[in-house]
Amino acid sequence: MPPAGQFIDGAFRPSTSEATLDVVDPCHETVLAQVPDGTAADVAVAATAARAAQPAWGALTPKERSLILLQIADRVAEHHDLLVNLESANTGKPFEVARDDVASTIDTFRFFAGAARAITSQAAGNYAADHLSVIVREPLGVIGVVTPWNYPLLMAAWKIAPILAAGNSLVLKPSEITPLTTCKFAELVADLLPAGVLNIVTGTGPVVGAALAEHPGIDMIALTGSVNSGKAVARAAAESLKRVHLELGGKAPVVIFEDADLPAAASSIRAAGYWNSGQECGAGCRVLVHESVADAFVEHLVKEVSSFTVGEPGAGDDVEIGPLVSRPHFDRVRGYLERAKDAGIRAAVGGSALAGPGFFIAPTVLVGLDSDAEAAREEIFGPVVTVETFSDEDEAVTRANATAYGLSASVFTENAKRSHDIAGKLDAGTVWVNSHLVLATEAPWGGFKGSGYGRDLSIYALDDYSRTKHVMHNHGR
Ligand code: NAD
Repeated sequence: MPPAGQFIDGAFRPSTSEATLDVVDPCHETVLAQVPDGTAADVAVAATAARAAQPAWGALTPKERSLILLQIADRVAEHHDLLVNLESANTGKPFEVARDDVASTIDTFRFFAGAARAITSQAAGNYAADHLSVIVREPLGVIGVVTPWNYPLLMAAWKIAPILAAGNSLVLKPSEITPLTTCKFAELVADLLPAGVLNIVTGTGPVVGAALAEHPGIDMIALTGSVNSGKAVARAAAESLKRVHLELGGKAPVVIFEDADLPAAASSIRAAGYWNSGQECGAGCRVLVHESVADAFVEHLVKEVSSFTVGEPGAGDDVEIGPLVSRPHFDRVRGYLERAKDAGIRAAVGGSALAGPGFFIAPTVLVGLDSDAEAAREEIFGPVVTVETFSDEDEAVTRANATAYGLSASVFTENAKRSHDIAGKLDAGTVWVNSHLVLATEAPWGGFKGSGYGRDLSIYALDDYSRTKHVMHNHGR
């Protein structure tokens, strides 16, 4: 377990509040640990520490910051098993998911260590007579970060690595449901970073998250979470006109044409719809399949989904689906399934909760939905995939785009012209062709429309966490 307290200015210190939050094991519903229920005063202390530390950190050369990021990656790698176990205990993730999270965390730090040394921008040049323009990338300053519970360590890494690489300091609030690996990470890397560069304040969204969005000494607020939380921080940030970076929810459409390789598509959805028990913003959870192949596709998908091993992570390495993260979330997902049943929607497999203890939902495929059905429209965020049918291409695209979200989408077809054309028409920040949910650290991740703005991963994240300055030299003589 991480030490008690808030990680501020290089060490764990008592919170200004004595109140604590219980951190619950979702397999057994027992209390794993307690963390401070932090306050706006904690945020103020952390923001002051971050502000004091930033100039020296930002003044390091890219090479110096890069070497520290590489050391952080190595430190995480040395504690791989500990972090896998802690993440799995707090979230209920199967070990294969937690291992992937830790491996991706390491890769994120290694990528940004390299990217920090290879920044590009417009060439310096005499764009006005006798005046040399030099375009400089500068750190923004202090970044406030709010992370979700579905990938606690990895979502923290997606923010921390580019923010530090670009020369900023930060104050991060992990989800109150899953703060443990983020606090442990801070403990593990404390000796590698100058005090104050990284600060972690635990607490709830409406108190600590809101304080980060409001604090005038914070230059940007970056949040990964639900649309409502994104709107709340954007509203609060407007007051101090700080920059906003939002990675919000998704409801990814998967468009399957009649010429698709149906077994391959079903196998892709087995992974992409149910990875992390479907608690995944990019999950391929809303299938639109051509009516002529719908029955055949559902047959393949049901076969795939029936083969999942569900259980608590400790039950073995073959476990692929764990519990949902918390009682409220479990009740929410169960509510979607019950209302779908009441509306006459058929579950081709699954369709209900499993006997407790623990927050387990059977991997589910709902079939025969209309596009306006609640389960087809809203982000369920559990192991539930819905299947709708369409009869022509234009209808498929129109219906795929008829959602408030725009995070990701996919198209399955063997026709290359069609896949290029449809990829251009789908309104999502990531579009996969004959695949879904494969990520690369080099490629940007982020949404359109209600899924937010700003990009994680890739060199685009470095741009987001820095500002552009034009310095013009008059050299006329
Ligand atoms: P959530 O919005 O409930 O919580 C996310 C974080 O926001 C938490 O730390 C929470 O404490 C904080 N928060 C809540 N209210 C706040 C407020 N008023 N002000 C400031 N902070 C506040 O989301 P969650 O349930 O933890 O995560 C699931 C959601 O996150 C889903 O919608 C999912 O799609 C989304 N998500 C998106 C991405 C992405 O990359 N786009 C990645 C992971 C998760």
